[in-house]
Amino acid sequence: ARRPLIAGNWKMNGGLAQVDGLAGALARRLADTAERPFDMLVCPPATLVAAVAGEVLGSPLMVGGQDCHTAESGAHTGDIAAAMLRELGASHVIVGHSERRADHGEDDATVKAKAEAALAAGLVAIVCIGETLAQRDAGETLAVNRRQLVGSLPAGATPANTVIAYEPVWAIGTGRTASPEQAQEVHAMIRQVLGESLGAEAAGAMRLLYGGSMKPGNAAELMAQPDIDGGLIGGASLKVDDFWAIAQAV
Ligand code: 13P
Repeated sequence: ARRPLIAGNWKMNGGLAQVDGLAGALARRLADTAERPFDMLVCPPATLVAAVAGEVLGSPLMVGGQDCHTAESGAHTGDIAAAMLRELGASHVIVGHSERRADHGEDDATVKAKAEAALAAGLVAIVCIGETLAQRDAGETLAVNRRQLVGSLPAGATPANTVIAYEPVWAIGTGRTASPEQAQEVHAMIRQVLGESLGAEAAGAMRLLYGGSMKPGNAAELMAQPDIDGGLIGGASLKVDDFWAIAQAV
């Protein structure tokens, strides 16, 4: 059985106050929880990765970055290499988030190269895909997600080093969540496509997260779907009680 992953993406939010107030508080709740049938990850802004990693050291709470460069090092002003995140204590990195694809023009080939850089540095890559509202309305949802998945999947992907996050763009930060059936339809396709490239066993073991306005009130029905193995949570991951409640919905 796949162990659910509850991952928080803080995006460009939070400061030093959240190191203890959010990450520390979650780590303490995790430490106090005997039965914990899920993994939990927070992805703060790069400026906070070191502090959060220090704060949660020794707890089961994991820390990740929100992006990394494709290269190991070099003349890339303002960018961050995967190994730099790893050195700070990160275990994961999000790549190909739709906000990066939109704000920074990242295409599938770039996302794939970033995911491969993450794997090379020993990080787990959380590879994001998702269609826009226009694409959904045009009936292109499955084709778009298939194309992004095939184009973004890193070489050498295994269930241990890669997580796929389906985040419909129209559901991100809008309060409009995909229905469990809409999400499951895409997740089932993702697992089928993974099977074609990685084999059925690896595809069956890889974790597929849903992201897009996931909240305490809708998390249970989403995660009850057979191919949804947790969430990538934005807004609700900035509130300890909401993020914790989502994990309790596993
Ligand atoms: P929201 O949960 O705020 O909709 O954001 C989802 C997301 O983009 C997580 O990466």
